[in-house]
Amino acid sequence: MKESPQTKRLEDILRSSKLAADGFLGEDARSVSEIIENDLAVVSKSGFTKEQIAARMRDITDKAISLLGNWTEIDQKLLARVDEAKGFIVCPWPHTGRFAKRVTYVKFTGPRAASRESQVIKWSDLNIHFIELHGFFEGKGSNFRIEPKDLINIIF
Ligand SMILES: [Zn+2]
Repeated sequence: MKESPQTKRLEDILRSSKLAADGFLGEDARSVSEIIENDLAVVSKSGFTKEQIAARMRDITDKAISLLGNWTEIDQKLLARVDEAKGFIVCPWPHTGRFAKRVTYVKFTGPRAASRESQVIKWSDLNIHFIELHGFFEGKGSNFRIEPKDLINIIF
């Protein structure tokens, strides 16, 4: 199927490094719509919606903002930390949306922290928006790529 000029332009922006250090697609050779389709299939299997995932992410970020720079207990299972940089980043999709350059780090606490499930995942405010509105988890190899399965496993 031939891509529309709008889709092509979006692909070009997402692949360029103007907005993000390595672009939003990393080394992923798939088209944006393919990436979104595959990730949303994983989300759909999990029983959660992308809106529920984004809401939970936002909730965690909001809780951690109050203790900027320090690990904060979110609940019995999770710790989160928020780092903020100056400035904003805009959504590459054709609509108005700019987001604080804020990064949230999340990891398990308690018994699960010692297990092999122990890992830190991170997201930016833009990631939350990408997921909620565009179903976009970024391309494989991009700095802020989030595996939907890992994300769901950690935050729920
Ligand atoms: Zn957007």
